[in-house]
Order: sequence, then structure tokens, then C-alpha cells
Amino acid sequence: MRILVTGGTGYIGSHTCVQLLEQGDEVVIVDNLSNSKESVVSAIEKITGKRPVFYRADILDREALDTIFYTHKIDAVIHFAGLKAVGESVAKPLEYYHNNITGTLTLLDVMREHGCFKIVFSSSATVYGTPASVPIREDFPTGGTTNPYGTTKLYLERILSDLYVSDKRWSVVLLRYFNPIGAHESCLIGDNPNGIPNNLMPYVTRVAKGTLPKLCIYGNDYPTHDGTGVRDFIHVEDLAAGHIAVVNKMADSGVKVYNLGTGVGYSVLDLVQAFERSTGIKIPYEITDRRPGDIAECWSDPAKAERELGWRAKHTLEEMCRSAWNFEKAN
Ligand code: NAD
Ligand code: UDP
Repeated sequence: MRILVTGGTGYIGSHTCVQLLEQGDEVVIVDNLSNSKESVVSAIEKITGKRPVFYRADILDREALDTIFYTHKIDAVIHFAGLKAVGESVAKPLEYYHNNITGTLTLLDVMREHGCFKIVFSSSATVYGTPASVPIREDFPTGGTTNPYGTTKLYLERILSDLYVSDKRWSVVLLRYFNPIGAHESCLIGDNPNGIPNNLMPYVTRVAKGTLPKLCIYGNDYPTHDGTGVRDFIHVEDLAAGHIAVVNKMADSGVKVYNLGTGVGYSVLDLVQAFERSTGIKIPYEITDRRPGDIAECWSDPAKAERELGWRAKHTLEEMCRSAWNFEKAN
């Protein structure tokens, strides 16, 4: 298949491009490099021996998308492109709604014009808001998002579902990611946020490296086994493999929703201890106030993806920690 990967030089997109190329798909990337670097294209080539076609372009740029679809007969789109910083989205809601929603509307319109009706969308566990219980199944209610970033995911899920209602040629897969961490074993691609990381794992690896003095753990009074927040950390390689399973089994029509998680919840302290065990490096930390908008626990029931796609996450928490650390050291 020839697959257009929007946001393909980003963290999850780059790992997915590698696996697509490895299984023989043709990959066309469109990315505006707002949160990634063009050197990722060469890194993908180094890993796979194949160079994906790359367009530095914005998904808001209809003309650019039109040229891409005109030049390449695209069979399906995996749509990663979007802004993803929760805190920034609170400060810049217009920018987030415009980039993520208008960008996706533009992409969908151009897809329709060119007769491409297959799309896999990067959604997030954030669409479940505060779940009534864990593990979270796909049929749990969505809504109650606490920031504009999460709300863009919620609205886009709705928009993509409405599209199918209007025209049965659409085949839509909504993938709700839990917490991806880790990197490709080559250490050539991985999560390399600019500035001070917002997410836990890149923060931990930078403390381990000595770039940051200590980790702040946001609250130890949650109703969890040790009081710290519990999440479903998933190796980015497993997450990428989930996309491969989806693409290989994609129906000609319909809307499908899958959780991509491990089904196991680990606390922030569990992760810190696993990191220390697997790397031998002590992580100094301090308990601070809860971070506004955080929920106590969030982990998936991934049974549907296993049942329908034959996909299941394989890596252990220790492997994820080692992988994240190896990437940090190498970069
Ligand atoms: P990322 O920032 O590394 O990758 C996103 C890519 O999209 C970047 O390379 C960026 O330059 C590009 N981009 C952004 N806006 C664009 C635009 N208008 N036109 C073209 N390119 C644009 O993020 P990621 O972690 O790889 O996430 C990929 C997707 O998965 C995002 O949609 C994100 O919201 C979603 N997601 C991520 C996580 C996570 O924890 N990383 C969790 C749930 C969902
Ligand atoms: N967290 C933390 N310190 C940090 C970053 C995150 O204690 O510097 C906690 C956060 O409160 C949450 C968990 O780690 O309980 C995962 O947060 P992250 O931002 O990585 O992902 P989220 O689940 O919020 O998408």
C-alpha cells in the first residue's frame, strides 16, 4: 500500500514509518516540522534502508496536500499531525483548535476530492475524561476533557464518525493511545522534546543524565496503591505495531475504535523504581502538589485490539525504561 503519514517525522509517526517500510509499504510523509526535524527522514532511511518521500508542508495548506495526492496515488492516511502539549493548549486554544481541527478538516476534504477514504486517526485516552472505573473499555463514555488539546481529540473523533454516517465509502479507525514511552532500539529516533519536558519519562531520563536536578512527582495523595498517579505506559514500538495491525486489517468501510495500551497500570513511583532497577541510576525526586487536570488512574482494557487485530503490547516496563535511557544517552 502507499500510505500518507501526516506528522511522520514526529515521535510516534517516525516509529510507524519504520515498521511500514519494513513490511514493504510505500510511505509518503507530510510534516511542517513544527515539532520535529527533517533529519528524522535520514534516520528512518538508515534504519530501514529505504527513504520515505518527504514533504515539508502544513496540513492546513490545501494546495500542498492537493499536489501530494495528485502526485502519489494514496491508498490510506495515518494522521498523526497535531499539536499535543496539554498546558500550551490551555494558553493557546485558538492555535490548537485551528491546527488540529481545521488542519484535519482540510486533510479530509482533500482526501475526499482524490477518492481516498481510509484514515487512521491518533486519538488519546484523554477522550475518556475521568473514567468511572479502570481498566477503560472502548465503550466507556467519552467527554469531560479538561483542556483544549483533549477536546480537539474528542471533536475530531466525532467529526470522523459523522463523515462515515454521511458517506459509507469512509473507513475510519480511531486509535486511543495511552502513555507511549521508549524509543527505537537503534536510538536513531525517539522522543526528544524541546525545552523542559512535560511528560514523565523524558523528564526522568533528563534527571538521570543530570540535565535536570530532580523529578517533581505531582501528588502522592491519590487513591492509588502508593498515592501517585497510575498510567498505562506502552513502548512506542508496540504502539507503532498497533498501527501496522490496523492498516493490514483495515475494512473497506466503517468506524472502528481501539485502545492501544498494555492493560497494566503502573504508578509514577513504580516507573521511577523500574527505571532505577533497569539502569542502576538513582532518580532524586520531590513530592509536590498535584498537577491541575491530572486524574488518579488511567489504564486500558486492550482486549478488543487483541481480539480483532491480533495485536498486543509485548514490552515490559523495565524494557521501556532501558530503551528510553539508551535513547537519552545517545542523544
Ligand atoms: P509529535 O509532536 O512528535 O508528532 C506530531 C508531528 O506533527 C510533529 O512532527 C509536528 O511537526 C507535526 N505537525 C503538527 N502540526 C502540523 C501541521 N499543521 N501540519 C503538518 N505537520 C504538523 O507527537 P507524537 O507524540 O508523535 O504524537 C502523534 C499524534 O499522537 C498526535 O496527534 C498526538 O496528539 C497523538 N497522541 C500522542 C500521545 C503521546 O503521549 N505522545 C498520546 C496520545 C495521542
Ligand atoms: N508526572 C509527574 N512529574 C512529571 C511529569 C508527570 O509526576 O514531571 C506524572 C503525572 O502527574 C501523571 C503521570 O506522571 O500522573 C504521567 O504524566 P504524563 O504527563 O507523562 O502523561 P499524561 O498521563 O498526563 O498524559
